[in-house]
Amino acid sequence: MQIETRAIDSLKATYYQRHRAEVLVARKARYAQNPALEIERVRRSRSKRTEYYLAWQREYNRTHRDSLRATEKCHAATPAGRAKISHHRSLRKARIRGATCGSDAQRVIVAIKSAARVACFWCGTVVGANDCHIDHIAPLSRGGGHTAGNIVPSCVACNLAKGAKLAYAEWQPPASNA
Ligand SMILES: [Zn+2]
Repeated sequence: MQIETRAIDSLKATYYQRHRAEVLVARKARYAQNPALEIERVRRSRSKRTEYYLAWQREYNRTHRDSLRATEKCHAATPAGRAKISHHRSLRKARIRGATCGSDAQRVIVAIKSAARVACFWCGTVVGANDCHIDHIAPLSRGGGHTAGNIVPSCVACNLAKGAKLAYAEWQPPASNA
């Protein structure tokens, strides 16, 4: 069974190398038609061979360090890109902890990071998007989810003071500055 899978993998790899452009066009077309279905298809295919994909990902990260860093720098240059970075960091934390991840979380983070100025959810201080942290009302480490309803903008001071504490029970927000 293992050998069969490998033989198929190598056939697929050869086909992909020869027809890369067509494969990518077909994949994009499938995605355009039904994004949710295509994401689910890839997720299912990967979950069947998690170790294979993790090994592949590690190898890719190792061999593409410079281009990955350049991409991250590009992302960090725009509000939407910064939101994506922030979203993916939280997703990683949430997945490690087995927390719920909402498909709407990224939209909320993009909205917060794209605003010129936002008010801290805890103290009301108005800060620029660059000085605003994305905070989870119920911390991810305490069972909170990475979901739209649990995500709020926070000033740096409140975010750092709150840390992994539960607001109102273990940490009191400062008096409103609004
Ligand atoms: Zn604050």
